[in-house]
Amino acid sequence: MKIAVPMERDPAEARVAATPDTVKKFKGLGAEVVVETGAGLKSRILDSEYEAAGATIAPDAASVWSGADIVLTVRRPSAEAAALAKRGALLIGALDPYGQQAAVQALADAGLTAFSMEFMPRITRAQVMDILSSQANLAGYRAVIDGAAEYDRAFPMMMTAAGTVSAAKVFVMGAGVAGLQAIATARRLGAVVTATDVRPAAKEQVASLGAKFVAVEDEEFKQAETAAGYAKPMSAEYQAKQAALVAEHIKKQDMVITTALIPGRPAPKLITAAMVASMRPGSVLVDLAVERGGNIEGSVPGEVVTIGGVKILGHLNVAGRVAASASLLYAKNLFAFVETMIDKKEKTLAVNYEDELVKATMITRDGQIVHPSLKG
Ligand code: NAD
Repeated sequence: MKIAVPMERDPAEARVAATPDTVKKFKGLGAEVVVETGAGLKSRILDSEYEAAGATIAPDAASVWSGADIVLTVRRPSAEAAALAKRGALLIGALDPYGQQAAVQALADAGLTAFSMEFMPRITRAQVMDILSSQANLAGYRAVIDGAAEYDRAFPMMMTAAGTVSAAKVFVMGAGVAGLQAIATARRLGAVVTATDVRPAAKEQVASLGAKFVAVEDEEFKQAETAAGYAKPMSAEYQAKQAALVAEHIKKQDMVITTALIPGRPAPKLITAAMVASMRPGSVLVDLAVERGGNIEGSVPGEVVTIGGVKILGHLNVAGRVAASASLLYAKNLFAFVETMIDKKEKTLAVNYEDELVKATMITRDGQIVHPSLKG
């Protein structure tokens, strides 16, 4: 059983799908692990560390993919890379398949049985495999660090002989995994933090982190959560009421971090250009939803823009900006899933296609796109 770890080809991707720790664990399950040379460098992992953990280093993509039974990646591989695969090999990664019909078809055409980790159900058994949570948590942390670095005032209140610096006011929009970590991080740095969300359950979580909850709490708000715990799209009427409340609040904030998403839809626009213009120069906004269309009018993917003295950060792949930590957790998420597909006694691949985790995440098999949400 050969497990392959190719180097990520996207120059913006610093993460890697296996670490020396997971290599050791795979070896323990009887697998042979092949890592492409340099695959871990941007996450501060040397080839020699993989070797010390028992991996073989392959010189190029062709030799790492060749004959592999399982290929572990961070991003969806190109059609050219996928074509290097053995037919029937398993591909496991953050394959980002929505709206990518041709690219997903290429995986199917290559004969790959591909699993998109973003589709992992959020049930207790699969928590250890939840890449959305492990990466969003780090993104929420990094959003505050990035924002603080661009902010030209101090975060905590400082009472000094020379005078008092007041604490920064930080407003977090969307209190899911990323937002809750942003709240906690901003609080640790000494900011006065407020937060909003459309899910009523978020109110208590926000309060438990020492932040104040700001939202229109009407009847619609009380129903605004799906059974899976995700946000529902809100009515135009609710959005208008909430926007008015937010507009007043934002004027007084030094930093706003937006993380609002609704699965499978473009990110809701929560901050208008007029709201940005109402903030004082030197304020900073961080748009963690920028890759999905953005929560902030004026945010640009991959750029820091300044409008009227207010900075808007649109960094891409924010978890990848803490690559070593992100890889550590991501690799563990992948290991936990792969472990369920291996017969430990026989030391062979034994995928249970009836397992709900397999059913939920599998997007291609036997040359076909098989995931219900991706079938035209
Ligand atoms: P997400 O990334 O899909 O969205 C981020 C946040 O934005 C969510 O809290 C959402 O409610 C909020 N949002 C959406 N539209 C908004 C709007 N118009 N205004 C303000 N906020 C808006 O969410 P997530 O971080 O993946 O978490 C979603 C839920 O799932 C949370 O309750 C989280 O605690 C829960 N969760 C459960 C598990 C598990 O059970 N294993 C794991 C992770 C997360």
